[in-house]
Amino acid sequence: MIWDEELDVLVVGSGGGLSGAYTAAREGLRVAVAEATDKFGGTTSLSGGGGVWFPCNPVLRRAGVDDTLEDALTYYRAVVGDRTPAQLQETYIRRGAEVIEYLLQDDSFSFEVYPWPDYFGSAPKARLDGKRHIIPTPLPVAEVGELGTAIRGPLDTDRLGAEPPALLIGGRALVGRFLKAISQYPNASVHLNTTLVQLVTEDGAVTGAIVEREGVRVAIRTHRGVVLAAGGFEGNDELRKRYGVPGVARDTMGPWGNQGKALEAALAVGADTDLMDQAWWSPGMIHPDGRAAFALWFTGGLFVNQDGVRFVNESGPYDRLGRSIIEQIDSGATTLPYWMIYDDSQGPVPPVGASNVSMVEPEKYEAAGLRHTAGTLEQLAEKIGVPPAALVATVARYNELAAGGKDEDFGRGDEAYDRMFTGGASPLVPLTKAPYHAAAFGISDLGTKGGLRTDTAARVLTESGDPIPGLYAAGNTMAAPSGTVYPGGGNPIGTSVLFSHVAVLNMLGR
Ligand SMILES: Cc1cc2nc3c(=O)[nH]c(=O)nc-3n(C[C@H](O)[C@H](O)[C@H](O)COP(=O)(O)OP(=O)(O)OC[C@H]3O[C@@H](n4cnc5c(N)ncnc54)[C@H](O)[C@@H]3O)c2cc1C
Repeated sequence: MIWDEELDVLVVGSGGGLSGAYTAAREGLRVAVAEATDKFGGTTSLSGGGGVWFPCNPVLRRAGVDDTLEDALTYYRAVVGDRTPAQLQETYIRRGAEVIEYLLQDDSFSFEVYPWPDYFGSAPKARLDGKRHIIPTPLPVAEVGELGTAIRGPLDTDRLGAEPPALLIGGRALVGRFLKAISQYPNASVHLNTTLVQLVTEDGAVTGAIVEREGVRVAIRTHRGVVLAAGGFEGNDELRKRYGVPGVARDTMGPWGNQGKALEAALAVGADTDLMDQAWWSPGMIHPDGRAAFALWFTGGLFVNQDGVRFVNESGPYDRLGRSIIEQIDSGATTLPYWMIYDDSQGPVPPVGASNVSMVEPEKYEAAGLRHTAGTLEQLAEKIGVPPAALVATVARYNELAAGGKDEDFGRGDEAYDRMFTGGASPLVPLTKAPYHAAAFGISDLGTKGGLRTDTAARVLTESGDPIPGLYAAGNTMAAPSGTVYPGGGNPIGTSVLFSHVAVLNMLGR
């Protein structure tokens, strides 16, 4: 093998994996980041929150939060169950605080408490006040230095061509802070338009990688290891189909570079996988470009299916909601699109507080048949093709439940998260003010979460359970410790930030 370059560590992907690159740089290792696209940050920088769910981390502790790791573990075990190894779950819970502690030793990093209720509010030790979640402090783009303008997002820039703001917030702030911190180290470099295409092995160990950088093949010898933090394969319809992931690439929130190439490179050297049909789900508002985009923060409205019948707790945490909708679709009970029905009390725009991709002019939704308005519910039903009597009865029943303040049909408002966007009040807001409106919805996802099976040190395992020396995975490239559930906001990015860090510490024998 003729090597073009030599390094200690190659990190593939520039989302949460930047945590591993930063750790390697700070620990004195020669490290490079290979990012396939023309921008740094991946889905991580498309996240408006950039939150991480790390119970009892120093930011929460300093704010006086009275949580314990035992309580957090009780909660996580209760919601994830036995679908993933207990030790992997425990690593996520116990070591998350440690990575925040590590980062905060560097002035480049700063986080704030951002309360966000756990997603299974009735599970034991759920944190209903949301105090397991922190977000990065915003950062002016100029503070990142020359890499600042190469940060992906926000979504309105990627999807609608909007000018990127000069203040980095949420996931962009996290990515910006990592890039700023990495820039301090001459032993680290970051590379755009550089795609991992193959892993090189010697005697079963990964000793290097082939990347295509600006179209040129480069063979990189890696003395310590390769960390695959290349996101999921949500952007690849062929792989979605092969592994049975509901939904299509058009409707994912992941950026186009998340094609599963790193996953395939690992499969080619004998890696095992798990949870391959899983994603972080959400309902998706359909926009005039034809794409359903992750929507949350509903301050009114209800969903109906093609029969004009309500079918779900509309205010539930988006992954639970998405999974319920998928179940209904799979059983044939609901077809796409389904509709959000709302009245005019908040105006003609759907009562969606966070559409993530900004809504464009109302006429464009109307022209695309994605939004309808009518003076009566019967007329609205005609427009969206559902039985009028059924829609009238659905809304009458809903208004009756709203008057009683309890959703006896679907439990909307029973858990803390459901009430988050109505200031603690019941999310059952009656529909009384004509005209009535309907907005089309589908299914979206925040990325796939099945992938390479790892141990607690992020080492990629073979089918027989042995680690492949020199190969690590983190974030959506690994089989998520959270299995088939989304325990709380901040788990996806947390998984990438933590396990890429842990991978590098393992290379150092820690
Ligand atoms: C609107 C929105 C809000 C969200 N909010 C949150 C939140 O607050 N908290 C949270 O935890 N999660 C949130 N999520 C989900 C979260 O953003 C993603 O699941 C997470 O960022 C994935 O991180 P990652 O590091 O695994 O992958 P990514 O951040 O997607 O990074 C992967 C990178 O690898 C690159 N890549 C892929 N293949 C290759 C290759 N072969 N070679 C080189 N590079 C490659 C990709 O181009 C990409 O840049 C949100 C998502 C969205 C869309």
